[in-house]
Amino acid sequence: MTNNIVVLGAGVSGLTTAYLLSQDPDNKITVLAKHMPGDYDIEYASPWAGANYMPVGKEGSAHHKWELDTWPALKEITEKYPEAGIHFRGTLIYNRKKDQETDTGKWFSELTQPNPWYKDVVPDFKSVPSDQLAPGVDNAQEFTSVCINTAVYLPWLVGQCVKNGAVFERAVFKHIADAANAHHTGQKADVVINCTGLSSKTLGGVVDDKMYPARGQIVVVRNDPGPMVSTSGTDDGEDEALYIMTRAAGGGTILGGSYQKHNWSGIPDMNLANRIMKRCIDICPSLVKKGQGIEGLDIIRHGVGLRPLREGGTRIEKDKVDGVAIVHNYGHGGFGYQASFGCAYSAVSLVKEILQNKSRAKL
Ligand code: FAD
Repeated sequence: MTNNIVVLGAGVSGLTTAYLLSQDPDNKITVLAKHMPGDYDIEYASPWAGANYMPVGKEGSAHHKWELDTWPALKEITEKYPEAGIHFRGTLIYNRKKDQETDTGKWFSELTQPNPWYKDVVPDFKSVPSDQLAPGVDNAQEFTSVCINTAVYLPWLVGQCVKNGAVFERAVFKHIADAANAHHTGQKADVVINCTGLSSKTLGGVVDDKMYPARGQIVVVRNDPGPMVSTSGTDDGEDEALYIMTRAAGGGTILGGSYQKHNWSGIPDMNLANRIMKRCIDICPSLVKKGQGIEGLDIIRHGVGLRPLREGGTRIEKDKVDGVAIVHNYGHGGFGYQASFGCAYSAVSLVKEILQNKSRAKL
């Protein structure tokens, strides 16, 4: 039996869900979106991400399971498909107890704790001996993670979906139910998957008041310092962050960042940019030549993205709006890549339930 499916949204959430669904030849998929890979826009979070795998889900939560389930998929893509733009990279995490009540410290509390669940997931996990810690650092760990070049990976996902027969079209909807009438076959879709990220706050039929942004500012540079680095916080403000990651396949190095809740500004703040660059050089002097400061950084661009946060957590559930079956998969905050496969597996199993009910109804 043929299933007509619309995926609304072409960020990492929509593309990963479409990629999994497209592996079943019975599924006829249309991916509809205002923004597609290649676009840079403040309404489109995915291109701005670093992106790496730095687990933050609390042990025992659904978020924990999504991240746990995503690692094997990212590892397999990294090993089997170098053209997807993901590479393994050494990683250093520094924790200061004094950051634990700040917005950034809370965001990273699972990542930075000395005995995290992910120690059994990522390869090469090791605690840094306490006599080797820099002053002010309470604990530190190293492991191997991945860094995703989003400018390569998102188009790779599109390519996999197209190869499997999915059709991509630009479209903008005011109401989620309207997307059901835009399937490429001309027939009504059996199910619409809502992967509209932060726009779920205003999209008709969804209007989710729990959605809000956490603004992330970055500087992309040509310098390559080696391992990835992330810390529990900074001394420059409770919603500022410090992380460094070099993307695969010539994607440059991302210097971050910030975690500014309810801040919608898409314009880079140059004072913040200076603080980001200075902090990164302080913690990782090998970013620049000996004796150099910010002037030693070769800047590609400044950027800002809005992480789609949701009070109460990511929404993955079935819904019915104006008679249209919907599966929501949105609200992935700062973890949309590292939880992408886990979340998409959950969304796909809900889609299957809807399709099974459809086929039972036709018997
Ligand atoms: P989006 O990428 O925003 O995509 C939404 C899609 O829906 C777009 O295609 C849009 O055009 C479409 N759409 C919306 N409304 C409509 C409409 N009405 N009609 C038609 N189309 C519509 N995550 C990690 O896992 N690791 C990281 O290292 C990481 N680093 C980050 C760094 C920064 C600076 C930022 C900003 C984010 C970072 N993230 C990271 C988080 C990650 O980027 C997001 O969680 C993820 O991109 C969200 O993807 P999404 O597909 O849900 O939403």
